Amino acid sequence: MVDDLYQETILDHTKHPRNCHAMADATRSAEGYNPLCGDKLKLFIKMDGDVVKDASFLGSGCAISTASASLMTESLKGKTRDEALKLLEKFHDLLTTDSPVSKDMGKLVVFCGVRDYPARVKCATLAWHTLKTALNGTPETVTTE
Ligand code: ZN
Repeated sequence: MVDDLYQETILDHTKHPRNCHAMADATRSAEGYNPLCGDKLKLFIKMDGDVVKDASFLGSGCAISTASASLMTESLKGKTRDEALKLLEKFHDLLTTDSPVSKDMGKLVVFCGVRDYPARVKCATLAWHTLKTALNGTPETVTTE
């Protein structure tokens, strides 16, 4: 039942990605590429001081990478840079360890099933790797390699 609900959420975000558009007044952006799957995305962030005011992305990739970028941009709004980086760590743990799912991850828990598919972990974390680059201000394309 829970798995069905999670899959439905992922499917919904794949079919109707949120915040999927360019942002003309972004203060930061970065591009990410996952050569294993061919997922590409460009992330746009608008910072207000230390707070993520807005986040959006453009990309072409598989279902998991699109849903992940969609849910990530939703989760980021209103977070400080440090909170965003902490969330990134938790998301990475969710996908790569057997640790119990953290309660404060909101909808991001829908990706916990991905930990059973190591090849898809890079699809799910691509947006987050790109986020790290955007927040750190290094203007190069990141790959998941
Ligand atoms: Zn992919």
